[in-house]
Amino acid sequence: EARSAGAGQTRSFSPAMREDLRERIQFENDLRNALDLGQFFLCYQPQICATTGRTMTMEALIRWQHPEYGLIGPCEFIPLAESAGLIKRIGAWVIETACAQLARWRADGHEQLRMAVNLSARQLPEPGLAERIGEVLNRHRLTPADLELEITESVLMQDSERSTNRLMALRRLGLRLSIDDFGTGYSSLSYLRLLPVQAFKLDRSFVDTMERSETSLEICDSAIRLAKNLGLDIVAEGVETETQAQLLREMGCPLLQGYLFSRPLDAASAGLFLAADRSARPATRSGKYAPR
Ligand code: C2E
Ligand code: MG
Ligand code: MG
Ligand code: MG
Repeated sequence: EARSAGAGQTRSFSPAMREDLRERIQFENDLRNALDLGQFFLCYQPQICATTGRTMTMEALIRWQHPEYGLIGPCEFIPLAESAGLIKRIGAWVIETACAQLARWRADGHEQLRMAVNLSARQLPEPGLAERIGEVLNRHRLTPADLELEITESVLMQDSERSTNRLMALRRLGLRLSIDDFGTGYSSLSYLRLLPVQAFKLDRSFVDTMERSETSLEICDSAIRLAKNLGLDIVAEGVETETQAQLLREMGCPLLQGYLFSRPLDAASAGLFLAADRSARPATRSGKYAPR
């Protein structure tokens, strides 16, 4: 069943990317109805403390269970959702669902756990976004510090003055903000300094090549030191090997995320991961959650 074991794995070729116009129009219609038909679900991928191995944050990652095409990943429908004007509703559903899940995990005793949600380019300028997020948090008896919004560096670069103002509003509410895919968006250091963010997420591409490229290794090291000097957290994305994890630990990277620790898991499996994390921490590195 698609939602169980391999929920992290998705198809890589949807009609949005194919030539046939009729098929693409149908696909957009499907997307329009997907929310009401309950075809979306969230997977969760842990961000691990590099020194203790504890799960600090779960990142929510959306999936679409399409009746015909199977499991579809966000890269294949989020851009379409944005251009079709559907992202506001989908984005609101993601925040609602992720907060409801965090509240359940909190009730299960994971009191320190935080949730991270990805925000699309089109969501940031929405009027009233901060207020609506505040309302969701209140309803689930969560505080703004429990939620982290991940915004890609390229989005922040698009309209930097406006973005900065929008970020300020979210920050004033007390949310944590992080720059996703850090290192890929050509931000100037002077601009970065002005952003009210608490963390960088070092792009997977640098981690992926750090074992064979001296340049990547240097970029990882520089980004980690930059974060430290600015007083920010940094998460290394896409950690797949023990060597990468070890190198990143030696560089002082505080948080790690990637298949080495866990693939994105459906809610039930993520709950088991958290439970295992709490009882017998070293066991989470092998067996059920080992990288596939
Ligand atoms: P992202 O936020 O940078 O998420 C990381 C992506 O890398 C995820 O792909 C994750 O499954 C994958 N990943 C994690 N660890 C590893 C690893 O060790 N190796 C490799 N090869 N990949 C790894 P996914 O779930 O397909 O998401 C892709 C992108 O879609 C995300 O990138 C994010 O920008 C966007 N996205 C996901 N969920 C949402 C959502 O709810 N709303 C919006 N607006 N965008 C979303
Ligand atoms: Mg992200
Ligand atoms: Mg990322
Ligand atoms: Mg990425």
